[in-house]
Amino acid sequence: MAEVLVYVDHVDGSVRKPTLELLTLARRLGDPVAVFLGAGADTAAPTLAEYGAVRVLAADAPEFADYLVVPKVDALQGAAEALSPAAVLVPSSAEGKEIAARLALRLGSGLITDAVDLEAGESGPVATQSVFAAAYTTTSRVTEGTPVITVKPNSASPEPAPAAGTVEQLTVEFGPLATGTAVVSRSPREATGRPELTEAAIVVSGGRGVNGAENFAVIEALADALGAAVGASRAAVDAGWYPHSHQVGQTGKTVSPQLYIAAGISGAIQHRAGMQTSKTIVAVNKDAEAPIFELVDYGVVGDLFDVVPALTEEVKAR
Ligand code: FAD
Repeated sequence: MAEVLVYVDHVDGSVRKPTLELLTLARRLGDPVAVFLGAGADTAAPTLAEYGAVRVLAADAPEFADYLVVPKVDALQGAAEALSPAAVLVPSSAEGKEIAARLALRLGSGLITDAVDLEAGESGPVATQSVFAAAYTTTSRVTEGTPVITVKPNSASPEPAPAAGTVEQLTVEFGPLATGTAVVSRSPREATGRPELTEAAIVVSGGRGVNGAENFAVIEALADALGAAVGASRAAVDAGWYPHSHQVGQTGKTVSPQLYIAAGISGAIQHRAGMQTSKTIVAVNKDAEAPIFELVDYGVVGDLFDVVPALTEEVKAR
């Protein structure tokens, strides 16, 4: 069976959920081979095996932590050239997309970004993408070289598939560019206890209708009751009510949760571009004509300051 390389996104050996989703999807295409770069491969290996990795190719070198993406691209290139896999799958994070683009260029391959589904096709993997604010769903495949595909978080539910994963050493030869850009400092994300926006299963977002930074407490309370991440429209971010790192949309983050709740958000096309692939969409808006209602599965016409606290109480009571 063909092998499929899966780039492992991890924090000190703790594997992040998008990688488990990639392993689940990779099993449709062939035998997943995880590429683990940095420290902690032994910690990660049992989880990677549980989700279907038949092998873990591991390499650790200071370059992976001290420099930006190029050393990781060097490693993935080495693995791809050695294995000639059916595809290379990378999570659709900012880092993942940069790695994938550089890798595709190095391999002379076609690149598909932000896939929301993957299937095996007769002539290679077929990727589904949702484009033009969800107006169209496209399927495409790479026709040149080894397909390099990035997949949006939350595109698949991670499903375990016990396999006999083994850790094997990946020897990496760093190219001349590998040390080009050094990491100067890292700032940990503020510790809110909430999930990361792009990985969260539920996102509760507030817009201009929230009408002030202090009122975001209403949005946060619902998010905490649901175990959700908090998002914001650009209008709320531009007003200084919530940090830009929480902006959802064309010039913010793309989310694809199981449930997206938009409160006081009109549903401009640029906002939709970041959330339209959410599985279930709920909106609370006092204007029954707001465009967001064209998109929703459930809509509540009402004042968010009545509806959202009532919803929070209801969720807490269950
Ligand atoms: P508004 O459009 O002002 O809507 C506020 C809504 O709140 C209204 O529908 C109103 O009825 C409702 N409301 C008011 N009070 C209440 C209440 N008490 N209870 C219930 N409902 C209430 N936008 C993004 O979000 N993300 C992006 O990444 C993004 N990128 C952009 C990139 C470009 C190049 C451009 C040009 C624009 C971009 N925008 C983006 C901006 C986008 O066009 C909209 O201006 C923005 O999304 C509007 O935010 P909003 O829905 O919060 O505000």
